[in-house]
Amino acid sequence: MKSVLRKFRKWILFCMVWGCFPLLLSGCGQSKAARFDSVDIAMGTVVVQQIYARQPLMQRPAGDGGGDIADRALARIRQLEQETLSRRIPGSELALLNAGAGGAPAPLSAKMEAILSDCMEVSEASGGAFDITIGKVVALWDIDAWAGSQMPADAQQLVNAQQPAYQLPDADALAEALASAGYGKLAVENRSVSIPEAMSLDLGAVGKGIALDELLGMLEEEQAAGAVISVGGSVLTYGEKPDKSPWRVGILNPADRAGNLGVLSLVGQWCVSTSGDYERYVEVDGIRYHHIIDPGTGYPAKSGLRSVTILAKDGFLSDALSTACFVLGREKGMELAGRFAVEALFVDEDGTIVMTEGMRAYFSPPDET
Ligand code: FAD
Ligand code: MG
Repeated sequence: MKSVLRKFRKWILFCMVWGCFPLLLSGCGQSKAARFDSVDIAMGTVVVQQIYARQPLMQRPAGDGGGDIADRALARIRQLEQETLSRRIPGSELALLNAGAGGAPAPLSAKMEAILSDCMEVSEASGGAFDITIGKVVALWDIDAWAGSQMPADAQQLVNAQQPAYQLPDADALAEALASAGYGKLAVENRSVSIPEAMSLDLGAVGKGIALDELLGMLEEEQAAGAVISVGGSVLTYGEKPDKSPWRVGILNPADRAGNLGVLSLVGQWCVSTSGDYERYVEVDGIRYHHIIDPGTGYPAKSGLRSVTILAKDGFLSDALSTACFVLGREKGMELAGRFAVEALFVDEDGTIVMTEGMRAYFSPPDET
């Protein structure tokens, strides 16, 4: 873990200084709530936590979750990743389901059944723009593993020097993988799922949002006073700061990741997820290939957008809909956001920002913050 943190060290410092993560502005010590900060790695991304907890809840004896509240929150995220969501970790529920594709219907935990059902609902509502059954296609592109922009530039050069150049997936292999996909072929019923042979599920588009929902439950259980927690591009705000000022969540500028396009000022519980083409991508012969795939083509989505930010009360929806809206593009994405009663902010390829009416109440451009 230390070496991973070392790898991300400059990037983390950069983010903390320049506000790529929620602007962690606070006044500590104005009430009895104590502040716990942590920066760590889980789900292949950076987790930044700032939690205010009341004194009796600060520490628990070892064996009862151990550590402080931020340690316990991180443990929850890692447990969710290892036991349920990761397609990469052998033995997780998802990895076992994928390994059993083509076999008899597989039993599901209550948690996985709810996740799969929720995913099906978003797939149907988005006309298949969001589809977790494209796991084989996602694996062929394998862009997450190549996502150079998640590392400091010098570290990336080092990696590039040691690795062969990125190879675009073979078109026939992509077509075959795409033919195996299709959410309509997935049958979720009676706490079991039938996954057709050659199909593979991928929860990369919702895992971080699901983690936010899990953290929300934990903060409620532990009666935390307030928190802002960022799991990669998904952010949870909860409760209040000691000085009662709003939480401030920065929205990155896709054209210049060192700066924010604006800030959302949020009071109480909210989830904010952003999907974009600027963090996980590779460039081949001057063409950018990013990690959000259009299930209609099997290729990175080209919808005229650089990013979509969704503001919702729940983490699953904010994460699922940011991906779906990115694939759909601005017009259809607006409609989808309206159907789920969430707020959305779209950044076009030319930098134009368009948002739902409701989002305006929370958004301010950088010069007004
Ligand atoms: P989002 O838009 O939220 O999601 C994009 C991701 O969703 C893609 O990467 C793909 O996985 C999937 N996807 C693409 N198109 C679609 C579509 N049309 N419909 C549905 N799904 C789609 N990355 C690593 O490099 N190493 C790891 O060890 C690692 N472990 C992970 C473990 C878990 C449990 C999860 C959830 C993710 C992990 N990742 C890992 C992935 C990494 O963090 C991803 O970059 C992230 O999930 C993508 O999130 P996003 O917000 O950037 O984009
Ligand atoms: Mg998403």
